[in-house]
Amino acid sequence: MTQPAWWEEVLSLSHSAYLHISREQRILDALGDTQTLVGREPSALIGMALSELRDIRAQLGGAVAESLARSEIRPGETWGFEDGAGSYYGLADGSFVIKLTAALKVDQGIVGRLADQLPILVAYVDQDLRFRLNNQAYMDFIGIDREALYGQPVASVMEPASFERVQPRLQRALAGEEVTYEDRITLADGRTCYFKVHYTPDFLDGEVVGLYAIIQDISEYRAMIQLLRDVHSGVNRTDIDSDEIIDQLLRDALAYLSLDIGLVSRIIDEQYIIKWATSEVADLSPDDTFALGDTYCRLMLDAEGVFHTTEAGKDPRISGHPCYQTFGLESYIGTPLRLNGEVWGTLNFSSAQPRQEPFDQMEIELVRLIADAVERVITNEAEIEQVRQELDRMADKALRDYLTGLPNRAYLDQQVAALIHAHDTRDEPFSLAVLDIDHFKRVNDQHGHDTGDAVLQWLSGRVSECLREGDMVARTGGEEFVVVMRGTRASEAASAMERVREHVSAGSVTLEDGLRLAVTVSGGVSEHIAGESFSNLFKRADTALYTAKRSGRDRVSSL
Ligand code: GH3
Ligand code: MG
Ligand code: MG
Repeated sequence: MTQPAWWEEVLSLSHSAYLHISREQRILDALGDTQTLVGREPSALIGMALSELRDIRAQLGGAVAESLARSEIRPGETWGFEDGAGSYYGLADGSFVIKLTAALKVDQGIVGRLADQLPILVAYVDQDLRFRLNNQAYMDFIGIDREALYGQPVASVMEPASFERVQPRLQRALAGEEVTYEDRITLADGRTCYFKVHYTPDFLDGEVVGLYAIIQDISEYRAMIQLLRDVHSGVNRTDIDSDEIIDQLLRDALAYLSLDIGLVSRIIDEQYIIKWATSEVADLSPDDTFALGDTYCRLMLDAEGVFHTTEAGKDPRISGHPCYQTFGLESYIGTPLRLNGEVWGTLNFSSAQPRQEPFDQMEIELVRLIADAVERVITNEAEIEQVRQELDRMADKALRDYLTGLPNRAYLDQQVAALIHAHDTRDEPFSLAVLDIDHFKRVNDQHGHDTGDAVLQWLSGRVSECLREGDMVARTGGEEFVVVMRGTRASEAASAMERVREHVSAGSVTLEDGLRLAVTVSGGVSEHIAGESFSNLFKRADTALYTAKRSGRDRVSSL
């Protein structure tokens, strides 16, 4: 079969080829752009067995061979390849001709070669939603080679739930529409990525025959946006709990930096105390404590600013350091956290795996930004803690006597109410005693009011020294003290107060001029009767006190 040169040229330009096959299934002649379509020059094909073609083009060799096996190729009849890659028809002498068309050439032609140069993912998908072309970037991303992807359904590269969302968009493109979308797709291998996708319908004679898919992996970009949102929350939001903000920051930073362990630590002296930890691989929890010298953070604090390494074992700053031997972390990026200008702790991200790429300027800036947000959260926490302590102090102040520091009347009321409740509901007894300084007016009169105050302070200490666990003494006014004794019956309470009385009279207050002043107290004791009110109980104890005073003071009586 000889043809004029122009015929060859036209065939070559039209990207089609003809193979004349003998009855014995050998290639008698080859014409056109066979190089593009089956990977061999025409001259190299002549004489080859059709079965050998199967090695070059499995689909092609396979389809024809199957037809032959089923004796389907008869003179004058034409058969199309299922994949639209061409047709074959029988000649009168029992030989036949295979016509290869552009549909198959798409992955070998100029489009395919150009697409291979592109850094974005490109695929050509036919009407049956099967891949007809996948560029190099696509194959690299999916991890499946061109031959294996060819003819595979699009559904095979992603999880069913993702394909359910993708399919209607593909159908819209096959109906002639340009389609653009962004979506989170889970691939068949389990990876989840954010893609920005554009579908362009491919028209042939006014009909859509397939579509080009141009796909950008924007996971990193999305992770960055998420991270910036978290930073914003950390800096501005007060409606979210600090733990939640920091946890989210660490989590999203790990995703962005492709590392495994995210930590916020507190540094006190040479101790490294974990405050927040996020890790799927390491078992680290808040309050875990390490020697600072054993951590990479020691190196970071010495270096100032953001410290990072992507293969610690080969980094002369780290490889000989105990931290490398202890933790074996290959990748690390961290920065100090400061509060009021002082180092408060550190923020760091790490992994036992070396990192492919060095940390770039963007990532370093991001770590700084996250550190700012964490510092802000910590500052807020510290401020809140300060206010809380102040409130506690104020609340405490409201319940304490300014002169002696003992609980005051309000505090006593609370305690007694609780004890009355415990007695009434759980039958737990308690007793109460009123103590009053004997002839206190004289102290004031003879030594002055300041000495009187000093006596009150001395006495509060003296009484407290005698109390047992569960007992409480309050200064309820003037020179009157009330002791409550939990779980104590009248007789036991009377002897307890007798001990107090003795202890007071056994001591003396040393005045400024060195003089020693003896002080005595009288006491009245009562045990609470179930159902009795505080005022009634108090009245009984006060009456007992009156009896003690009347009977000569420096004694305890009960009622
Ligand atoms: P008695 O033995 O009968 O109790 O005699 P007394 O002098 O102690 O009499 P009373 O208990 O009635 O006296 C209370 C005195 O305590 C009156 C007041 O001068 C004094 N006093 C009350 N509160 C204070 C105080 O906060 N500081 C000082 N220095 N004296 C106080
Ligand atoms: Mg009194
Ligand atoms: Mg008195």
